[in-house]
Amino acid sequence: MADVGIAGAGLAGPLLAVYLSRRGHDVTLYERRPDPRLAGAAGRSINLALSARGIDALERVGLAHDVMGHGLAMKGRMMHDRSGQLAYQAYSADGSKAINSISRHGLNGLLLDAAAKEPGVVLHFEERAVAVVAETGELTLEGPSGRHTVTHEVVIGADGAYSALREAVVRSERADYRQEHLPWGYKELTIAPDASGGFALDPGALHIWPRGDSMMIALPNPDRSFTATLFWPFEGDAGFAGLDAPDAVRARFDRDYPDAAERFEDLAGEFARNPVGSLVTVRVWPWVRGRLGLLGDAAHAIVPFFGQGMNCAFEDVVELDHCLGETADDWPAALATYAERRKPNADAIAELALDNFVEMRDKVASPVFRLGKRVEHAIERWAPEHFDSLYELVSFTTVPYVEARRRAAAQRRFPANLAALGAAGAARAADAVRKVVP
Ligand code: FAD
Repeated sequence: MADVGIAGAGLAGPLLAVYLSRRGHDVTLYERRPDPRLAGAAGRSINLALSARGIDALERVGLAHDVMGHGLAMKGRMMHDRSGQLAYQAYSADGSKAINSISRHGLNGLLLDAAAKEPGVVLHFEERAVAVVAETGELTLEGPSGRHTVTHEVVIGADGAYSALREAVVRSERADYRQEHLPWGYKELTIAPDASGGFALDPGALHIWPRGDSMMIALPNPDRSFTATLFWPFEGDAGFAGLDAPDAVRARFDRDYPDAAERFEDLAGEFARNPVGSLVTVRVWPWVRGRLGLLGDAAHAIVPFFGQGMNCAFEDVVELDHCLGETADDWPAALATYAERRKPNADAIAELALDNFVEMRDKVASPVFRLGKRVEHAIERWAPEHFDSLYELVSFTTVPYVEARRRAAAQRRFPANLAALGAAGAARAADAVRKVVP
């Protein structure tokens, strides 16, 4: 069994530590931040949507039940127009399937607790990985006691979108590397509970204020607040730049989000204090060099518009575990197979996530688009063996992303698919469509 060093104890790092420990490996996790479980480290409440792929990965090591106990199910999107009118769209054809709003901080703590309980897992906080020699597994760290070097048989870079360990791969011969930022950034704000302490908005939905060139979304928290995220261009009329004065901030919200403007905990204060994050897609190849492998955002950061970055990172962990199983823990062979299998899927979800930004900030505002979704769901209900929406395949199944994209593209060739249904099936589908199209 191997001695494995993992840089990064965010979401994927500790889950990987649990999986590896169950296989009998020794694991040391190095995290640059202080331990987030310690008092005072909570910070702002930020949440994520957890769906089938992530749940499956947690389930396999017995963590899904605990995590889901802290989640809030969101069965659809609630669109808010400029006049405050609401339009609801279920995520699944039968309206019953949900994605789950989970606290990032809470999930991180739960995963760290799970890793710490495993035999053979050691956690080090405030230790930043600064470099790795991929051929020897020599890892240089910087911590409170200065710079030092450790050596592991295998080193995994799970150190996020701006991974330091990725450098060792990028610098290798014939490596491909592309880091693309969107001209939009994001900022998180808090929508407070209402005057009676309840949710200010329906907690069973993910809320979207689509405004064409920008949008705001909000996901519920167990404390009955919502975390709202602005996705605005950095520059221009709808952008963050130059919007400093509290009155101007309030005027922008009164104009664009009038039904939410009153509901923020501290609109001007949080707007001034909270940073604007950037939205990056990272494509790199290879993912493996010598004793070093990349996993999660370090290998494939994607934009958050399909709610899949973490889910995809957790799927990486499952695939690496499969590959170790298939090769009787032959690390070089397992890492190579893991990378070959995951790379096309990571590329597919990166592309789908970029496409979904247009859908969320613009298309969902259109009644015609929403009608199209109802038609899609009607057909799925009547011919489930032939139709699954892209959203269902991505969020409610573990069908590989490449296959989900292929099936969704094939389904867009609608007339041909109707033919495949045969006369009776086509008649049923047409009947279903007539029920939702006025
Ligand atoms: P991270 O969670 O980023 O963890 C990396 C860890 O490495 C961090 O703890 C960091 O401190 C540490 N680190 C960094 N550098 C070093 C170093 N040099 N040495 C040691 N430690 C280091 N995904 C979803 O599935 N659903 C969502 O709804 C969703 N919403 C999102 C919303 C936003 C605004 C953003 C930006 C992302 C969202 N994501 C979502 C994506 C998700 O956050 C990431 O895909 C996920 O966190 C990736 O996990 P990771 O462990 O690879 O990286």
